[in-house]
Amino acid sequence: MKLANYVYGQWIEGAGEGTALNDPVTGEALVRVSSDGVDVAHALEFARTVGGAALKALTYEERAAKLGAIAELLTAKRAEYFDISLRNSGATEGDAAFDVDGAIFTVKSYARAGKALGAARHLKEGSRVALAKTDVFQAQHFLMPLAGVAVFINAFNFPAWGLWEKAAPALLAGVPVFVKPATPTAWLAQRMVADVVEAGILPPGAISIVCGGARDLLDHVTECDVVSFTGSADTAARMRTHPNVVARSVRLNIEADSVNSAILGPDAKPGTAEFDLAVKEIVREMTIKTGQKCTAIRRILAPAGTARALADAVSGKLAGCKVGDPRSEGVRVGPLVSKAQQAAAFEGLAKLRQECEVVFGGDPDFEPVGADAAVSAFVQPTLLFCDKGLAARFVHDVEVFGPVATIVPYAGTADAIAIARRGHGSLVASVYSGDAAFLAELVPAIADLHGRVMVVDAAVGANHTGHGNVMPTCLHGGPGRAGGGEELGGLRALAMYHRRCVVQGGPAVLDALSRDAVDAALLGA
Ligand code: NAP
Repeated sequence: MKLANYVYGQWIEGAGEGTALNDPVTGEALVRVSSDGVDVAHALEFARTVGGAALKALTYEERAAKLGAIAELLTAKRAEYFDISLRNSGATEGDAAFDVDGAIFTVKSYARAGKALGAARHLKEGSRVALAKTDVFQAQHFLMPLAGVAVFINAFNFPAWGLWEKAAPALLAGVPVFVKPATPTAWLAQRMVADVVEAGILPPGAISIVCGGARDLLDHVTECDVVSFTGSADTAARMRTHPNVVARSVRLNIEADSVNSAILGPDAKPGTAEFDLAVKEIVREMTIKTGQKCTAIRRILAPAGTARALADAVSGKLAGCKVGDPRSEGVRVGPLVSKAQQAAAFEGLAKLRQECEVVFGGDPDFEPVGADAAVSAFVQPTLLFCDKGLAARFVHDVEVFGPVATIVPYAGTADAIAIARRGHGSLVASVYSGDAAFLAELVPAIADLHGRVMVVDAAVGANHTGHGNVMPTCLHGGPGRAGGGEELGGLRALAMYHRRCVVQGGPAVLDALSRDAVDAALLGA
């Protein structure tokens, strides 16, 4: 079966043989995708004109209601999405829930939050600015929805969440969406879009999907559009320098890879709640989605006196995780999504091993449960130990996109700060400590290079939302190596789909424009 593309209000099957999407456990070809023959320029123009106009005719609260209907539909079809996740991504039930339920939760969150924007169609920012001695000439800042299309170029690891965490705020803003999912796992995103189209929830042109290469996509974007890219730093660099993106100053948001840290404070010694909470979270981060999360813990910073005990505790828990075909009883860790990802992970692991000791896993002859190692894409969960601190190179630079993490002992708070910062910009750091003086020094010193810092102590206990969990109400993104993008953060996300304009004129025109506007302060509320 070849998955059709949905563009200019039609289902179009791409030409040629296309590319096969495989089951990463059995190697079986499941479906094929092709974008050949799709007129991308026409598709984007149809989205801008037909979809954009229809969405902008609705108010924020009407669009929020449509998100509510989408969330209901996705919830009703959850079991089918779990099945595709299992077959195309080798997802365990927990992995599929992370992606699919995460998507539904996020859409619901925007459906709820969007109601607060009421019957308006744009945003008014701040108060009137006096520009003359009398009221005759004033200014008002507005945030106006983009007239173009929101183009999403997505990564393979979150086919569901990656689509909806972007689509929800864009649609709420009144901007049509055009998604190009990553080829290896495009099936789930395509199915979700097909279901939403079939249900007739959105007006024609409000959502489009192209599966396959679509390598000419960026040739056709304009200054009215926004491109939101999620993927590797290498591809991101190509997007930033794309001649059409540069020439037309196309707005570009980048969520790239990241060498995130977990940091144990000096007080997080064996036997404390903070130590146990760190161990639990490290194991969860290494195993959920088989470590294929942009937010996953890659480096574990521990006081030199605690590091070995931590290595033993994490290794002990990893030994109890069954790795194999998620269809087999008791399996907790599945494969990577493809043989190509497995090869990339082995390559990265080989680099890390040049400066690390293997404390758990890393067995090239490891046998997954219920699967043939020759055709499947498994990587054994692997814990490394690097005593070179800041002097190490690969540990701070190489993101192995799989179940691999490295313990790096640190000498004191200044050293921990320097090592965390050596990630050159990360999505998240989690800190396990109840030591107020340590936290007061560390958190502000790393905050400018991290999109999110999660602090866990005994009082927070198990109530935290998780190192790797992205909450729709909180900012997601990170500076530097992490791409410099910003997503989510509740209604703040709408800012990317609006553009600020100050209108200068008499009070009558400003009053008229303000009548259709809601206070932009609500975005940060
Ligand atoms: P990737 O190879 O960079 O691909 C990402 C997307 O870009 C895919 O849809 C790919 O399409 C597309 N693409 C590649 N070259 C293109 C071009 N010239 N024109 C248009 N599209 C192009 O990344 P990936 O391997 O899918 O994802 C894994 C990476 O994503 C990891 O490094 C991870 O850390 C990062 N990630 C980051 C976040 C975040 O929020 N920060 C979230 C998830 C993942 P094809 O698949 O068709 O090649």
